[in-house]
Amino acid sequence: LVSFRNVQKSYDGGALVVKDLNLDIYPGEFLSLLGPSGSGKTTCLMMLAGFEFPTGGEIFLDGQSLNHVPPHKRNIGMVFQNYALFPHLTVEKNLEYPLKVRKMPAAQRRQRIAEALEMVQMGSFAKRYPGQLSGGQQQRIALARALVFDPKLVLMDEPLGALDKQLREHMQLELKALHRSLGITFVYVTHDQSEALTMSDRVAVFHQGVIQQVSAVNTLYESPCSSFVAGFVGDCN
Ligand code: ATP
Repeated sequence: LVSFRNVQKSYDGGALVVKDLNLDIYPGEFLSLLGPSGSGKTTCLMMLAGFEFPTGGEIFLDGQSLNHVPPHKRNIGMVFQNYALFPHLTVEKNLEYPLKVRKMPAAQRRQRIAEALEMVQMGSFAKRYPGQLSGGQQQRIALARALVFDPKLVLMDEPLGALDKQLREHMQLELKALHRSLGITFVYVTHDQSEALTMSDRVAVFHQGVIQQVSAVNTLYESPCSSFVAGFVGDCN
């Protein structure tokens, strides 16, 4: 579905924070980008979403280069750690926003909003404002907003980072179940080993702007390719 080919990134002419990265993302998989803070995971997600541009190499979606495709034409949904909901808009207006950007007719917008709220079991919260929702509920709405335009791919950057441990574990299960039922490709950034290992089909382990290993969860445990991967993955509690 997605190919990174020799992708590099530096900010403002500084050092490379992503170095010659090659990665294939398969249709329907749950792929986690796992690594310590500053290893380049978010930068990769931002380049895929179109909010940052590679300084070298190319990213392809369905074989088409994304180099000149603006974010709203990529058909990619995104969920951030801080939810990034508009506080002055109701839940349904928050969800309507990406549909208006895509110029969807009003009747179709209403239907898509209702469907997306059902997916995250928030159908009765359409008229509320984000400030009237709990953290977990806000994160469900952020997820619904990422799903509302029927994207091919959903990118998530530490989406559960602001939640307490119990809710985080509950939401991990919900996300995993939703992924299974929708069949959409999920790319999930985290620095939490146990989260990546619980949720993913495959994990890409980042270290200093390089992917050290990308493989199925079992393979990471059984045959880590470097002492860094063994140490980082093994440091799971
Ligand atoms: P974290 O989990 O802390 O978000 P990360 O693995 O996602 O870390 P990135 O956020 O991609 O890592 O950052 C990689 C490097 O790029 C870091 O050294 C960071 O300081 C730098 N960086 C990220 N965004 C910018 C920016 N907008 N301008 C300048 N440098 C940046």
